[in-house]
Amino acid sequence: MKNRADVDLSRLSTFRLPARAERLIELTSLDQLETIDPNADGPMLVLGGGSNTLFLADWPGTVLLNRLRGIQTRPLDATRVEVTAAAGENWHQLVRYCLDNGLYGLENLVMIPGSVGAAPMQNIGAYGVELADRLVSVTAWDWQAGQLVGLSREECGLGYRDSRFKSTDQGRYLICSVTLSLSTRFKPTLGYTSLQDQMAGRDPHSLDARQLAAAVMRLRRHRLPDPARLANAGSFFKNPVVERAEANRLLVDWPRLAHWPVADGRVKLAAGWLIERLGFRGHRIGDAGVYRNHALVLVNHGRATADQLRELINEITEAVATEYGVALEPEPRLIGQWAIKG
Ligand SMILES: Cc1cc2nc3c(=O)[nH]c(=O)nc-3n(C[C@H](O)[C@H](O)[C@H](O)COP(=O)(O)OP(=O)(O)OC[C@H]3O[C@@H](n4cnc5c(N)ncnc54)[C@H](O)[C@@H]3O)c2cc1C
Repeated sequence: MKNRADVDLSRLSTFRLPARAERLIELTSLDQLETIDPNADGPMLVLGGGSNTLFLADWPGTVLLNRLRGIQTRPLDATRVEVTAAAGENWHQLVRYCLDNGLYGLENLVMIPGSVGAAPMQNIGAYGVELADRLVSVTAWDWQAGQLVGLSREECGLGYRDSRFKSTDQGRYLICSVTLSLSTRFKPTLGYTSLQDQMAGRDPHSLDARQLAAAVMRLRRHRLPDPARLANAGSFFKNPVVERAEANRLLVDWPRLAHWPVADGRVKLAAGWLIERLGFRGHRIGDAGVYRNHALVLVNHGRATADQLRELINEITEAVATEYGVALEPEPRLIGQWAIKG
């Protein structure tokens, strides 16, 4: 186990704000968990790839870096296979592993950065598929009980970019492994409009899983900056979900506002559209900016500070609230939270 004190966190988060932690423990084996007291030296923060965590302040305790490894498959019948991956595996590599082994169902989720263990945290989703569509269960270390527990998909409380791990039980569990249900028969999910456009002219019946994954990767490369070249945390704000009457009111004034119905009768609004229409694309405060190709993505041009980012977030959320009467909520975890305006 690597154990370090006074650690630079800027390289452990894809947004790369300057911050430090009191100490860091690298977790490579489940046996280590019994020896770790989560309250011994200040608060404990679990980190995977750091692609959904921004440090707007130093972490006053221990960062537990999840590096648990291993992937196992278990055939259930002629077509169904359960895949169990340790939480420290890289999500994109897991998707590639499944494609290489003829296991289908994750194609739309290719190229999402980060670790397997963080995937249930916000029920990762892209291009019409969410983790919830494939998840069977997770195993997690319960810090309160000091033991490993199994949680079914239903018990994870998954919602739109949400779960019990992110809300009611934040900090209680360390996700150790994730089990997914995949198929040896490829059945494309092509409901998403931009994916259909990307596939224009192709017969969906002749499409194979690699072609679908390649199409998703093309779309992602076009829309999202590569964190290795331009620091970012992907979509910065959740798409706000509003009552149908509220959506109708907005659509009278802005008929082109992109929106989708959600299961409970409410309507999800495209946060990127709301922000872009206000002219924020390419806007910056110091080195904290809005990506020029996609208004939903905030970027660090190099030396952004926490203050600059706070100012930018407040400017955007206030402008959206004033113009549309809609509250935006950040999607990533912001360490050093403050009261967001708007
Ligand atoms: C360019 C880019 C594109 C992205 N695209 C998408 C997308 O299409 N869809 C999408 O949903 N997200 C997307 N994201 C967000 C991000 O990739 C996902 O949320 C991913 O699951 C985060 O994984 P991570 O390991 O980096 O999480 P981290 O940032 O390390 O952690 C995120 C949160 O989960 C907690 N956590 C991490 N691991 C564990 C664990 N094992 N047990 C308990 N808690 C844990 C952390 O404490 C933190 O609160 C994107 C991000 C970037 C930078």
